[in-house]
Amino acid sequence: MIDFRTYFHQYPDSNGFFGQFGGAYVEPELEPAFKEITEAYYSICHSAQFIAELRRIRREFQGRPTPVYHCERLSRLNGGAQIYLKREDLNHSGAHKLNHCMGEGLLAKFMGKKKIIAETGAGQHGVALATAAAYFGLECDIYMGEVDIAKQAPNVTRMKILGARVIPVSHGLKTLKEAVDAAFAAYRKEYKDAIYCIGSVLGPHPFPLIVRDFQMCVGQEAREQFLAMTGIMPDVVCACVGGGSNSAGMFAGFLGDAVELCGVEPLGRGAKRGDHAASVNYGTPGRIHGFDTLLLQDPDGEPQPVYSIASGLDYPGVGPEHAFWHTIGRVKYVTATDEEAVDAFFKLSRYEGIIPALESSHAVAYALKRAREMKTGAILANLSGRGDKDVDFVIEHYGYGDNYGFPRE
Ligand SMILES: *Cc1c(COP(=O)(O)O)cnc(C)c1O
Repeated sequence: MIDFRTYFHQYPDSNGFFGQFGGAYVEPELEPAFKEITEAYYSICHSAQFIAELRRIRREFQGRPTPVYHCERLSRLNGGAQIYLKREDLNHSGAHKLNHCMGEGLLAKFMGKKKIIAETGAGQHGVALATAAAYFGLECDIYMGEVDIAKQAPNVTRMKILGARVIPVSHGLKTLKEAVDAAFAAYRKEYKDAIYCIGSVLGPHPFPLIVRDFQMCVGQEAREQFLAMTGIMPDVVCACVGGGSNSAGMFAGFLGDAVELCGVEPLGRGAKRGDHAASVNYGTPGRIHGFDTLLLQDPDGEPQPVYSIASGLDYPGVGPEHAFWHTIGRVKYVTATDEEAVDAFFKLSRYEGIIPALESSHAVAYALKRAREMKTGAILANLSGRGDKDVDFVIEHYGYGDNYGFPRE
């Protein structure tokens, strides 16, 4: 049995393992870089100066704490349990990602680095990191596949306005995987002056630990806020799972409570290979990008093609801590399809005046379904980001949602 009062002292262990998952399988040339960042993090994270500075940044720059909001109309029209949202869409730059990017930027500063390096796929991580780099006055190199650069033009523009260098990657399929390789190759050459910043609770140790710790403010705030609002704990807490950072931060606040935790994975067009990215539900143990986890993989260990309407969720693996939480049964991993996510996207927009990111819409979709089954009680869903980035795509493919039949009261 795991004692959740001491959980954060025990997981990950000193080699970066959460049970059988995690670890750090890096090429020998990168080992000194990882050793440096691990040692720096373990000492800096206890520094009163670091903690005070991060708290000030969260308050004054990011606008934290973000509120918890009771969706009274949505709950009434949906029927059943009450739905509450943790409003990470109101975090500066519109999503939870800035929580770990500001932490990583401050870590870079404390380590005396001049530059941060990362890859980006859909561009959300690149924009959040470019924001942090501008704040701290750090150089910022973002590696991005040429195919993604063409598809994600608005995010490329944002990164450039914020002063980042967007470096096109033109080999292979010219998407995220090649961008990861290129970012690591650059890091190998530049680690004396630069730090690599990952976009989720992924990668070799210590990144899953660092990102979880920086995202934990989401769950800690939400727990306190919900308790202050209602006097009790929610029955269910849910969040969408791509790599797993917004959900890890949310769940970390409630691990020791008698609260059901549900991670919502993208089921895309259905359960067929290549039609979804539900790595915990359909994956098997394997190794990707330097760590062990549950993975959607072919028999030869190659990552499978994945798909979701939400580009922030289409990763063939999941953070190692989620694989662990699944194995010990502490978190339940459920799914929502594209259709269910779009339905939730329109409902939250029409009933509450909140346009959610398509990623976050998966968490809302599950909350709606679960609320109807539960009849009473309360569900707290993490609204990881706002949907401005998705509106053009949604109206092109689904119109303005008029055929969804929105009742007026
Ligand atoms: C990137 C992103 C996600 C998925 O990433 P996690 O690491 O699983 O949180 C979810 N929501 C939004 C708004 C995102 O930008």
